[in-house]
Order: sequence, then structure tokens, then C-alpha cells
Amino acid sequence: MKLSLLKTKYIAYVLALIIIGGFLFNVLITRQGTIMHKYFIETPTTYNIERAERLTESIYKSFKQEISSPTLENIRVFIDKYNDIPFLSVNFVYRDDKGIMKSVDGEVKEIDILSAEYVYPIKQGSREIGTLLVYDINKEYKKGLQEYSNMLNVTRIFFGILLFLLLSILIFHEYSSKIEKEKILAEYQAVHDGLTGLYTQKYFKEFLEREIDRSKRYNRPLSLIMCDVDYFKQFNDTYGHLAGDKALQEVSRIIQENVRTSDIVARYGGEEFAILLMEAGLEEAKSVVTRLKSLTDQALEVATRIKDKIEHTKIDVDDKQITLTISMGLSYYDGVSEYKLEYFISAADHALYESKNSGRNTITIFDPKTKEFTKIS
Ligand code: GH3
Ligand code: MG
Ligand code: MG
Repeated sequence: MKLSLLKTKYIAYVLALIIIGGFLFNVLITRQGTIMHKYFIETPTTYNIERAERLTESIYKSFKQEISSPTLENIRVFIDKYNDIPFLSVNFVYRDDKGIMKSVDGEVKEIDILSAEYVYPIKQGSREIGTLLVYDINKEYKKGLQEYSNMLNVTRIFFGILLFLLLSILIFHEYSSKIEKEKILAEYQAVHDGLTGLYTQKYFKEFLEREIDRSKRYNRPLSLIMCDVDYFKQFNDTYGHLAGDKALQEVSRIIQENVRTSDIVARYGGEEFAILLMEAGLEEAKSVVTRLKSLTDQALEVATRIKDKIEHTKIDVDDKQITLTISMGLSYYDGVSEYKLEYFISAADHALYESKNSGRNTITIFDPKTKEFTKIS
């Protein structure tokens, strides 16, 4: 399957949308990254260095002034208050009764102490009661930036994969719907004639074979009409092959318009058509003979209607209006006896041959039981 078979225009639209969407998404996310960097990294860095020490010194001084009796509660209040200072974070660590290192907000790790920029041991008298730690948050920001840029990359990759998947789904969808349509078309073309749209002879025979089996099972009669356009070679020779094609289309249209919905019509050969009539309603109560008679009457009615319509239909060829006639042969299967597809077809064919012999534009019925021909008109 070639890509050119796809709806390329549709794909191009989707592709353009995806590219524009992807571009905009990338612009936005990059801009967001720039803002993050400017306001949370660059700005703090410029004055953090100058101010950090000064601020830290003032925190230490305040601590000494405000915490005259350093209880844990006092220190916690102090830490909470001074943690609001921008770019610096304050903590207090101490050892509890068991000698375990703690901070005012819980457990503390060695690394937390080592990573503090400013360390002030706090004494009460000569006894060291703990350490005031001041952290430069800039470090955290840098770590944050790294994480943020990783996140941006992950987002880009994720978005890229998403677009790729979307595109794959669209292409797959296009391929499969194209394949599905072609499959349906191929299935249709396999059983339908290209010129008339009627069933092909091959399909008709297969259908008829199955139908004979079913008829025998349910004792349901069948009726078969074979039709052949009269003097069609002459028509072609006079008006040309294209006009002949048009006439065949016209004849098949008339046949189709005048059969019942349950009937099956096929283009049996060049200018030959076959019509299979089945009993429309299953009239189980009636005897096989009555049902057969009813179906044969219906078949004859259908055949007569088609013959008359064709005879009276004017086909436009160039500036002229031409009429055609058709000969028909009708036979039936009673749905009871052993019967073969070939017998059935040749019975209707014989009847058609009789119609031709008796001057054409005629319907003849062949009775397979009595082997008698009855010319109708
Ligand atoms: P008859 O009354 O005995 O049936 O005579 P006829 O001329 O109809 O019969 P014959 O079998 O001699 O000729 C059938 C013609 O049908 C010959 C062929 O060129 C024509 N034909 C068959 N298929 C097509 C078709 O698809 N298009 C056209 N235009 N003509 C076709
Ligand atoms: Mg013929
Ligand atoms: Mg013919």
C-alpha cells in the first residue's frame, strides 16, 4: 500500500497542527524556564552573596538578644520568625538526653549540618547547648534549577513521544480504513459486474446451487428466468459498442426495477441476464403444488412486465431513439425432486432457445416434469 493512497491532504493538516502545537508548546515551556531562572536564580544570586553574611550576622545578634533563656520552645519561635528572611534559612540543632542529634523541627542528619554556610555554637554559661545553622538557599535554587531543566527535557521527550504516537495512530487509522474500503470494494467487485452492477454469473451459480439445496430441505419452489437481448450484434454493428453498453445498462436497470426485492438478478453473459425468483413468504400451509403454481404465476408476471417495459423503452443513441426487445425462457424447480443446478439452468436455456426460435420478443415456459414448452407471448 502506497502512502499516496492515503488522504494526504488530511494528514498534512494534522501534521501542520501538530508542528504548530509542538512549536508553541516548546516556546511556552522555554519562556517559563527563562522566567524561573531570572527571578529565582539570577536575582537571588546577585544580592544573596553581599547580604547573606550581613543578614546572618544580624540573625545571630538577634538570637543572642532575644533568647536570654534558650528553651526549645523559645528557639522554635525564633527560628520560625527568622525563616521568613529571603534567601536564607535558619535551623537550630542540639543533642537530646540520649546524645542523639536533633533539630527544632525533628530528626537531623549529618549532611544537614555540613551543608550549612554559617554555624554558630550557642552556649549557656560555659555549656554548649546547640548550634545555630544558617543556610544559603541559593544552593537549593541551583539544585531546583537542575531538577527543573530535567523536568523540561522529560516534558519535551514526553510531548514528542505523544505527538509521534498521535501521528502513528492517525496514519494507522488512515491505512486501516483505506484497506477496509478497498477490501469492501474488492469483495463487491468480485461478485458484481462492472458495466451493469448486477451479480456475476459465477456468484449467481454459487447462489443458485445453495438455494437448490435449501429449497429441497424446505420444499420451497424456485423459478428461473433466462433473458437474452434480441439481435444485439446488429444493434452494436449499427450504433456502435458504446451505444450497446448504454443499452445493456438500460436493460439491466429495467430488469432490476421490475423484480421483487427477494429476487436475484445476474448478468449471465454479454447480453444475457438471469433472474432467480424464490417464494417471498413461506406459505407452509399450502401444498407444494399450490405454492409452485403461485410462484410460477409470479415469475410469469415479472417476466411479462420486464419484456413489455424493455419493448416500450426508448434508448437515446445520438439523436435517435431506439427500442430493443428481449426473449425469455422460464423454468422452475418444485423443491421436492432431486434436481441439479445444470438441469435447472439448461431447462430455462431451452425455453429461451424456444423463444428465439419462435420469432423472439417472446416468453416460453419449460415444464421439467412433462418436458413441454408453453409459449406465452
Ligand atoms: P439473438 O437475437 O439470437 O440473441 O442475436 P444476437 O445478435 O443478440 O446474439 P449474438 O450472440 O450473435 O450476439 C451477441 C452480441 O452481444 C455480440 C456482442 O458483441 C454483444 N455484446 C456482448 N457483450 C457486450 C458488451 O458488454 N457490450 C456491448 N456493447 N456488446 C456486447
Ligand atoms: Mg446471447
Ligand atoms: Mg442476443
